[in-house]
Amino acid sequence: MKYIDPHIHMISRITDDYERLAMAGCAAVSEPAFWAGFDRGSVESFRDYFRHLTEVEPKRAAQFGVQHFSWLCINAKEAENVALSREVIAMIPEFIDKPNVLGIGEIGLNKNTPNESRIFVEHLDLAAKLDELVLVHTPHLEDKYKGTRMILDMVCGDSRIKRERVCIDHVEEHTIGPALEAGCWVGMTLYPVTKCTPARAADLVEKYGSQRVMVNSAGDWGPSNPMAVPQFIQELKLRGHGESEISRVVYDNPLTFFGQCRRFNWQSAG
Ligand SMILES: [Zn+2]
Repeated sequence: MKYIDPHIHMISRITDDYERLAMAGCAAVSEPAFWAGFDRGSVESFRDYFRHLTEVEPKRAAQFGVQHFSWLCINAKEAENVALSREVIAMIPEFIDKPNVLGIGEIGLNKNTPNESRIFVEHLDLAAKLDELVLVHTPHLEDKYKGTRMILDMVCGDSRIKRERVCIDHVEEHTIGPALEAGCWVGMTLYPVTKCTPARAADLVEKYGSQRVMVNSAGDWGPSNPMAVPQFIQELKLRGHGESEISRVVYDNPLTFFGQCRRFNWQSAG
């Protein structure tokens, strides 16, 4: 079945992964800017990273017929460095009109600190001024519920931000409801250890329906599985869900969400 992985960090994955994704039916990936595993020292480091996301990965993906999209920001962990964060935010407009860029992300919170909140709001301001989509990382484990609430308050507190142009990612059982009620899209991340398993994500689709819901692997350099979306498809198939219903979550929904970006140029292979 054709699908899209709307959140995967291909910079951390080997080229063979593109081949496996393509063979499993992956038509496109979207890659948010994230933490590199270490704090970067200067804005030039981010400039090179944004070149990677907008120039290098699209070419690597295209070799396998996979379309590559990306998102730009400084992530929540590095937002503690407010001066650097502001330099990065000021540099984003240089890259925002590259053809594969979908918007600002993955911004969000990590430890729910005042500096993270400050930089989150400044990213939202940039997104509002540039009329861009927003992809939001929510914190892990014990910080998740409070962080998601803080994020929704900040998103809803800026009247210029349209909720249907925001995706709240890494939702779980206790955060999916508030995010959907706020009118945002949600992403469920299928992780082998933390976050959602394919079975838990399938339960959530059965409970909340498929409207404004996407699933992703968030594959990166940590324990993660780039083949997680096909596992989710298999889980729904085994539960007796029909092709069109499954396709809505893993293919139609990402296209609808991404389609709100004025640059979005879909080149479907078939
Ligand atoms: Zn991520």
